[in-house]
Amino acid sequence: MTTLEYDRLYIDGQWTAPATTERINVTEAATEENLGSVPAATERDVDAAVDAARRAFDDPDGWANWSPARRGEVLERFAAALESRGGETARRVSIQNGMPLWLAQNFEAGFPALLLRYYSGLVSSGQEEVRAGMLGKKSLVRREPIGVVAAIVPWNVPQAITFLKLGPALAAGNTVVLKPAPETVLDAFLMAEAALEAGLPPGVLNIVPAGREVGAHLVAHPGVDKVSFTGSTAAGRAIAETCGRLLRPVTLELGGKSAAIVLDDADLTATIESFFAATLLNNGQICWLGTRILAPRSRYDTVVDTVSGLASSLTIGNPLDPETKIGPLVSARQRERVESYIAKGRAEGGRVTAGGGRPAGLDRGWFVEPTIFADVDPKATIAQEEIFGPVLAVIPYDDEDDAVAIANDSEYGLGGSVWTADPARGAAFAKRVRTGTIGVNGYANDPFAPFGGIKASGMGRELGPEGLSPFQILKTIYLDEPNDPA
Ligand code: NAD
Repeated sequence: MTTLEYDRLYIDGQWTAPATTERINVTEAATEENLGSVPAATERDVDAAVDAARRAFDDPDGWANWSPARRGEVLERFAAALESRGGETARRVSIQNGMPLWLAQNFEAGFPALLLRYYSGLVSSGQEEVRAGMLGKKSLVRREPIGVVAAIVPWNVPQAITFLKLGPALAAGNTVVLKPAPETVLDAFLMAEAALEAGLPPGVLNIVPAGREVGAHLVAHPGVDKVSFTGSTAAGRAIAETCGRLLRPVTLELGGKSAAIVLDDADLTATIESFFAATLLNNGQICWLGTRILAPRSRYDTVVDTVSGLASSLTIGNPLDPETKIGPLVSARQRERVESYIAKGRAEGGRVTAGGGRPAGLDRGWFVEPTIFADVDPKATIAQEEIFGPVLAVIPYDDEDDAVAIANDSEYGLGGSVWTADPARGAAFAKRVRTGTIGVNGYANDPFAPFGGIKASGMGRELGPEGLSPFQILKTIYLDEPNDPA
C-alpha cells in the first residue's frame, strides 16, 4: 500500500518548510499498518503560524475588516472544496481512528461545509445595533471578531469538531491556528488543500499538527487572543489554568459520563437503533455518549437482556466495511485504557453480560468487544470515570427520584437521554437531569441548538447562534447623537 507522506506545513496560506525534521507517523487502527507521516510542528512552527495569523488579523484591509458577505464568498469556496474531498476525508478519518465509514461519511464529510455555510449566514446580518440610551443619546453596539484563535482538537471526530470552531471563528472574521491531534493528522492535510484551492487569504488559517507540549506552547502564546479546546478534562484543566493566569478567554468541551435513563414504560427494542447511536456510536469514542444505563429495578433483567443482546449482535470489523457497526479503537494505548477499565469493572463486582474481551479472529488492530456490565454500583469506578470505549454499565434504580439522584451523582454533565413511551414524560424528566444537553428517545446534536457541558464536562457552548459569541467581542460606541423623539 502506498503511504501518504507530506513534507510541508500549511502556514501563512502556503506550504511552508517545517522548522525541524521531526515527523508524526500515523497508523491504521484496524491493521496496525503504517499509513504515512507528516511534519511534526514544533514551537518555532507555532510561532510562525501565530505570527501569520496575527498579521492577517491586524491588517486594516484584511479578513477581520472585510464585510461578512466578502468573507462568505471565500468560505463558500472553502465549503465546496471540502465537499469535493468529502469521500476521501471520511476514508482518512476512518482508517486513522477506526470510525465506521458510514458514520464518517455522515459526520466528517458533511459537517464541515454545513457549519461554514451556517455561520456565514448567521453573521450576514445583526452584527451592529443602534440603541436608544437611557441618558438621552444613542449607543452603537458592535459584535467584532475576538482576534487570533487557537483551536485544539482531539482525534475522535476530528473534522466535525474542528468546524464547530472554524465555522463561527472564520465567519466572524477571526484568524485561526489549528492544532490537530497526532493520531488524526492526515485529514487535516486535505483541509489544507481545500483552503489553498478556495484561496483563503494568507494567515487566515494555519495548521500545526503536534502533541500536547507544543499545544501548551500555543495556548500560552502571547499572540493568541482566544483558546477553543475540545479534549480530555485533564488537559482542559491545564489549559484553563494557563488561560486563567493570562486572562485569556477559553471555551472547553471536555469529557463525559452521561446517563441513558430507561423509564418503566420504555420499549427499548422499538428504539434500539437510536439507543445504539446514543450509547455505542463510534466504538464508544464520543464524549456525549450515554455510558451509564439507568434501569428501573422492576424491569432490570429485561433492560440488561435487551442491551446485552444489542451489544452481542453488533458486527465488529474493519471500519471501511459497510457492515461494520463497531470498529477498532484509535490506538494501542486507548485499548489498554479500555481493557484496564473492564478489569476494574470485574474487580469491583460488576457482572459481564456481553463482550468483555477481544473479538475472535481479529488479531491485528485495536479491537475490543462491546461490553455490558450488569449489577454496577453507582459509585463503582466504571460508573464514575470516562472510559471512552464500547463499555456500558447498567445500574438499577428504585423510582424516578432515585434515577435523578443517580444521574446527577457525576463529576460530569455533558449529554444524556431518557427512554419512554411518553415523550412528554421524557421531556419533564429531562429537565431534572443536571447536564448541558439531553435527548428524549434518542440523542443527536442539532446544529441549530447550543451544545456543551457543565461541571467537569466544560465551559461555554458550541453550535447554534450561541456558538458564535465566544468568537466575538462586544464593543459599545456611545454616539454623539440624541435619541429619536418619542
Ligand atoms: P486529549 O485531551 O489528550 O487531547 C486533545 C487535544 O489536546 C490533542 O490535540 C492534544 O494534543 C491536545 N492537548 C493535550 N494536552 C494539552 C495541553 N496541556 N495543552 C494544549 N493541548 C493539549 O484528549 P484525547 O484523548 O485526544 O480525546 C479524548 C477526550 O476528548 C475524551 O475525554 C473526550 O470526552 C473528549 N472529547 C470531548 C468532546 C466534547 O465536545 N466535550 C468531544 C470530543 C472529545
